[in-house]
Amino acid sequence: MLRVTANPETCAVSSLCVYRLPGVFDQDEDGLVVVLDETPDGDLHEEVRRAARGCPTKSIHVTEE
Ligand code: SF4
Repeated sequence: MLRVTANPETCAVSSLCVYRLPGVFDQDEDGLVVVLDETPDGDLHEEVRRAARGCPTKSIHVTEE
């Protein structure tokens, strides 16, 4: 299982992850990242890994369990 978390304290409000995966990531009223789905379906895993790699502040963390 893949688990995704994100750290709003280091989020730079770039919206990249929300743009890529609107069902997994959202933004709060300040624009900071919120994870909507910590355990996304398998068909989203590669895109989640890509979003983590692409986050400019490395605020998205993926663990494989
Ligand atoms: S890609 Fe990173 S910096 Fe940009 S909104 Fe998502 S968590 Fe924040």
